[in-house]
Order: sequence, then C-alpha cells, then structure tokens
Amino acid sequence: MSLKNQHINLASISQRVSVCSACDLSKDRTNTVPGEGNPNAAIMFIGEAPGFNEDKTGEPFVGRAGSLLTDLLDTIGLKRRDVYITNMVKCRPPKNRDPNEAEIDSCSGHLDSQILTVNPIVIVTLGRFSFGKFFPRVPISKARGKAKKWKGKIVFPMYHPAAALYNPSLRPRLEQDFQKLNEFIPNVEGSPKKPTDPSTKPKQLGFFDIR
Ligand code: URA
Repeated sequence: MSLKNQHINLASISQRVSVCSACDLSKDRTNTVPGEGNPNAAIMFIGEAPGFNEDKTGEPFVGRAGSLLTDLLDTIGLKRRDVYITNMVKCRPPKNRDPNEAEIDSCSGHLDSQILTVNPIVIVTLGRFSFGKFFPRVPISKARGKAKKWKGKIVFPMYHPAAALYNPSLRPRLEQDFQKLNEFIPNVEGSPKKPTDPSTKPKQLGFFDIR
C-alpha cells in the first residue's frame, strides 16, 4: 500500500472511531483516541485503553504512563513519530477500569484495520490485554521480553508502563525489554534504525522464542 493510501486509510479509521457507538464506552467519552504516529511504521505499540489525559486530548499515552513510554523510546533512540501508538480500545473506560471482553471485541475491528494499514513488522504489546489479543492464555509475566512470531509478524510483549509506575520494581524489566527490542530492530526491514550498510548481517536469529 502506498504511503498516501496508508494516510487515507488511517484517517478514515479515525473518522469511523470518532462516530463509533458500538459499546457503552462511547457514552461517557470526551474524545475518541484512535492512535497516532508514522502510518508506515515498522514498529507498532498497542496499549490498553485511554486514561483521563488521553480522553481530554484525543492522543494516546500522554499522561504519566505516556511520559514513561516516551522516555523508554528515547533510551533506544526512537521518537514517538518513528512508531505507531494505539490501544486495544479507543475510548476511556469509566474511572480507568480495565476494558471488558465485550468492549475489546467491539473495538477490535478498528485495531485490526490499523494493523492491516500500517502493516508493522514488530508489534509491541504493552500489558496483558494487548498481548492477550495475539496469545490468549499465555501469562505476560512468562512471555515478556521474548519475541514471538504471529502471522508473519513479530509480537514483542512487555509490561504496561503504568504497571511500572504502580510497582517501581518492574521498571528495570521494562528498561531491559526496550534494550532487547533495540538489539533486533536494526535488522527489521523498514525500521528507522535499520543500518544503511547492506553488508550488515542479521545477528539476533537465536533471539526469537517461537512456539
Ligand atoms: N494507558 C494505555 O494503555 N493507553 C493510553 O493511551 C494511556 C494509558
């Protein structure tokens, strides 16, 4: 798909999200939060659901968890504009509760269209809800930091940044997982960090945890 069509598709997904009333989360929202970033990103981050600040601004990950995500990206030399950032559900659940199964199901068409359009090579799942979309029943505590193959893509599970805010002992694991991500993204086709030297050989083949 051309970059122009990726832009057009993402804009039309956002438009559909903005008028979506498929679940009750639509009733209390201030803004929908469809997602943002590079329409042709090699890496897509999928969080859980918008919180207070995201609902106010319509942008994903702009609160405290968002600052941490931005800082973690920075540690590996990436800007938010290099990647695509979205959520499992596009409207804020009341009092920041977890999204329920019906809400996740109602919203999944929007997310699937975003994945199809951006066509990332690596999908970084933030937290158990987004990991559960790809690998239901695998505990995030076991899976985190290990790349898994999914339909020709790489799913790379991490803890949610908010988890590290509530429980600071998780932060080193999140930092470690960003470093692991950094080890293999230079070998990913289309990555903003792909080396221009064509003689560079992939070096992380043993890295993938494929089951
Ligand atoms: N947490 C999420 O999962 N997504 C956001 O956009 C903000 C906080």
